[in-house]
Amino acid sequence: MDEFTLINTFFKSLTSPREDVIVGIGDDAACVKVPCNHHLLVSTDTLVSGVHFLESWDAYEIAQKALMVNISDMAAMAAKPCWVSLALTLPHLDETWLTRFAMGLKEGLDRYQISLIGGDTTHGPLSITLTIHGLVPIGKAVRRSGAKPGDIIYVSGSLGGAALAVLNIQESLQPAGQADLMKKLLQPIPRVDLGFLLQTYATAAIDISDGLGADLGHICEESHVGAHLVDSSVPIHPLVKEQQPHKAFDLALNGGDDYELCFTIPVNQQTAFLADLAKANITCYPIGCIETGSGLRITTENGNLVNCDIHGYRHF
Ligand code: ADP
Ligand code: MG
Repeated sequence: MDEFTLINTFFKSLTSPREDVIVGIGDDAACVKVPCNHHLLVSTDTLVSGVHFLESWDAYEIAQKALMVNISDMAAMAAKPCWVSLALTLPHLDETWLTRFAMGLKEGLDRYQISLIGGDTTHGPLSITLTIHGLVPIGKAVRRSGAKPGDIIYVSGSLGGAALAVLNIQESLQPAGQADLMKKLLQPIPRVDLGFLLQTYATAAIDISDGLGADLGHICEESHVGAHLVDSSVPIHPLVKEQQPHKAFDLALNGGDDYELCFTIPVNQQTAFLADLAKANITCYPIGCIETGSGLRITTENGNLVNCDIHGYRHF
């Protein structure tokens, strides 16, 4: 099988094309129709074997993870994901692996009605790069830079589960619930369901890929503000509290890979936001507020300072 048969067999047939795809896989470039009144958002994420996943993992899960982390970047900007291109580097042409990979990709693409519109296929150490394109009504993209002192900080779900999965692997532990934790790590659910609410109410947003502390830190830097977190308000995955009671807060604060969203809502919008959130049947958790200054201040409910190290994942 050569590169072109590979593309035709595994990728060209895989995607149900959207009506707005004018030219998909097979030409020198893809061509899509961008509706007027919308901005186009573009983001790229690479997954490298041995860094983001192990080569021994099921290719179905590797494909899903690669897609979900890209979709999450769209969710974090309150955009609707529409199209992806795939740059795939393969150490060898393994049809069983490619079949599983294409299946995982197809399930995710269909679930979010995203079209695969192109890519590149090369020979080398296993790595997967996806570039995702999304749409948002003009002016409605939510950036990291809009948080204002007084805004309430929310997270969209419990934290630390994916990091506990990694910790259990590293320590060769197989506790009850490890399968659920692995699912959090391998198949995170990007929070595109919050898109409209973020467009309407949020002043800033980010997806939590490197850890709440580090990622909220990015909102603070970009918005030129500080943040005050109340430790007991941070929602921690129940298995994390159960299996690692002493490390639980650290895992929730510094563990990456959960792909929940962290966002800020002005105080005077709280009532309307919470009403719409309830209407949408979504639970989010207020964890603190934005303040003047810089950096992250963590206290107990009573205001006592909590000393904790913030050390999000860094590649270099
Ligand atoms: P070119 O040589 O013009 O760059 P390629 O030979 O790399 O084109 O690719 C042929 C077509 O197949 C292009 O439309 C490209 O976007 C698409 N393609 C290549 N690899 C992939 C892949 N892994 N997944 C999806 N589409 C791909
Ligand atoms: Mg090419």
